[in-house]
Amino acid sequence: MTTRRILALQEVSKRTPVETSQPNKQVSEYFGANVFGIDAMREFLSEEGYNSVKEAMEKGVSIDRRMADQVAACMKAWAISKGVTHYTHWFQPLTGTTAEKHDGFFEPIGNGRAIERFSGSQLVQQEPDASSFPNGGVRSTFEARGYTAWDPTSPAFIWGNTLCIPTIFVSYTGEALDFKTPLLKSLSVLDKSATEVCQYFDKTVTKVIGTLGWEQEYFLIDAALYNIRYDLQQTGRTLFGHISAKNQQLEDHYWGSIPERVLAFMKDFEYESHLLGIPVRTRHNEVAPAQFECAPVFEEINIAVDHNQLLMDVMEKVAMRHNFRVLLHEKPYAGVNGSGKHNNWSLATSSGKNLLSPGKTPKTNLQFLTFFINTIKAVHDHADLLRASIASANNDHRLGANEAPPAIMSVFLGEQLNKILDELEKSVPDKKLSPEEKTALKLSIAKIPDILLDNTDRNRTSPFAFTGNKFEFRAVGSSANCAGAMTVLNTIVANQLMAFKNEVDALMEKKKLDKDDAIFHILKQYISTSKKIRFEGNGYSDEWKKEAKKRGLSNVPTTPGALKAWVSKESLSLFEKHGILNHREQEARYEIYLETYTKKIQIESRIIAEMVNNQILPSALSYQKTLIDSVTGLKSVFSPAEFKKLASTHLELIAEISERSTIIKKAADDMTEARKRANALNSAEKQAHAYCEDVKSYFDAIRYNVDRLENIIDDAVWPLPKYREMLYLR
Ligand code: ADP
Ligand code: MG
Repeated sequence: MTTRRILALQEVSKRTPVETSQPNKQVSEYFGANVFGIDAMREFLSEEGYNSVKEAMEKGVSIDRRMADQVAACMKAWAISKGVTHYTHWFQPLTGTTAEKHDGFFEPIGNGRAIERFSGSQLVQQEPDASSFPNGGVRSTFEARGYTAWDPTSPAFIWGNTLCIPTIFVSYTGEALDFKTPLLKSLSVLDKSATEVCQYFDKTVTKVIGTLGWEQEYFLIDAALYNIRYDLQQTGRTLFGHISAKNQQLEDHYWGSIPERVLAFMKDFEYESHLLGIPVRTRHNEVAPAQFECAPVFEEINIAVDHNQLLMDVMEKVAMRHNFRVLLHEKPYAGVNGSGKHNNWSLATSSGKNLLSPGKTPKTNLQFLTFFINTIKAVHDHADLLRASIASANNDHRLGANEAPPAIMSVFLGEQLNKILDELEKSVPDKKLSPEEKTALKLSIAKIPDILLDNTDRNRTSPFAFTGNKFEFRAVGSSANCAGAMTVLNTIVANQLMAFKNEVDALMEKKKLDKDDAIFHILKQYISTSKKIRFEGNGYSDEWKKEAKKRGLSNVPTTPGALKAWVSKESLSLFEKHGILNHREQEARYEIYLETYTKKIQIESRIIAEMVNNQILPSALSYQKTLIDSVTGLKSVFSPAEFKKLASTHLELIAEISERSTIIKKAADDMTEARKRANALNSAEKQAHAYCEDVKSYFDAIRYNVDRLENIIDDAVWPLPKYREMLYLR
């Protein structure tokens, strides 16, 4: 019998690269062509309309109804000129993906005729019947209405035949039900606090933005193989599969030449991304076979987040045209590297100055050190919250797996900057600075730029590393919405900058210190009090785990435990104080994240049982039957003495298949019982812990025995595509 696997492999062997639709033009000729950005607005809007949208984009000022009507009409005209028929509010519910509900522009006007219409109110606000999105009890179903409201700071775009309008998503009673709402609030608090601190150094600064450059890692797999792996389809990862003999040990894939079929796919999704104004610029092979990365030029955080969410969607759709499927899961394959999404984060003034880039003068360097040290202090004070912001069932497989940052939060600075901080800590006295001391300090910080230029040391094992002019938050998962991590980072830094400003002002007033003197004193204190978060060594090592424990840093390896930090007393008051999320919203989020965790493990557990019962055991037992038939044949042909010699391999295999099948079956049944126990629990928290500690504990034993079966069973009858078949792309 030919298995579906063999048929799929035959299909794969016939593949050739699909022709790309990328035109033979420079990117600048079509970049942003499908975005209602500055150029389209200038062309389609009146002067007044253009100015009001621009003001809304830059200052967050709201647009009045009359103007909204004008903008809507122009957006419609622009979209229709490009063949668009539908529009949608495009938002980011807490499922982690994006949501859209398309409505046609056309409207019947009687007599069997219709016109295209799109009003200001349709642009500004919608009331989707979106009662099925996660809301953690914030919205009971009888008040199922949630609103989506236009976010003019992120431009509308055309994807497919649809005009997409980025929006926030809030409940009828005003609570945030999405990622964007708290992100926008955190950016505004960050702007306010960072601008105030900037004014110590430069009175002309009136606005500070957060910048984000993400690096998206992903795997590709041939669609024919994906289609017969139920685990990949339903959970995004392989729940079984013996590691292939050759995987990543030769390190020949990283930055290797890109296979032609893959390159054709990359060109197409880059082309589509460029039309959408996503500035994707870098592409390369990653460490694991069939793993790749793309990265854009960094952008303002809200736009960068929207672009990443959109890119993930674009990649998935374009991949299908190329007979690939994209795996965005953090750990699609056991035994080879998983995927992350490094979030490069910095702050910039409206005139484009990067605040985490050392300057040319002592004054700008003091500004650099101020933002640099405050960020370290913020991470130190809120490490648990930062850990919670990247927690997910998927990411648990990656964090601490000797390939990705550990679950322990620490900050890597590089040798030179460490020295500078140590020096600063030593040389700032506990009293008012003398003129000589001040000069000496300024001279010592003036050295920073030269040093950083040749600061090439990189530490790939750190979850949060300074890389010359930005911090790189490496622990974020590949499938995550960056907004989760960015909202926390923005909030804790904003909070820290406010505290800094208060302390400096107080010192200037009480001790009559001048500004620089006060700043030096406070920074020195921060260096001392945040020291334990700094770590330069190997984050993958066991010594670090011990050392971290000694330092009192937490190491929470699994999601249910890590999520708890969302609802700690400090987190609740932190978010509430800055008006980013209130108690109810945060508790709702905690519950939603726990439920998502539970559901993911529940689905995995069900798929494991299903594949065991429907695919693995039947194949194993049918191969065992072949062996038994053969044994019966041998017995009828040979003398008992000869039979004993000749049938020994058969008998061993028959026994091993029975033993392993029994273990697998028993564990799968026990796991189902564990699931029942977990489902009967009465709180989201208890359920998540039960799924983590009880249900999930069966996974490894089942997998181990299935993978051993894969090794001894006839290749021709094994039902699942093997690692060596999935991981090698031509
Ligand atoms: P690498 O980290 O691989 O050496 P780069 O330093 O060029 O590469 O940057 C990696 C990522 O960091 C890119 O996505 C880039 O856009 C982003 N990046 C660079 N500067 C900034 C910045 N000031 N703010 C945010 N992201 C940045
Ligand atoms: Mg990087």
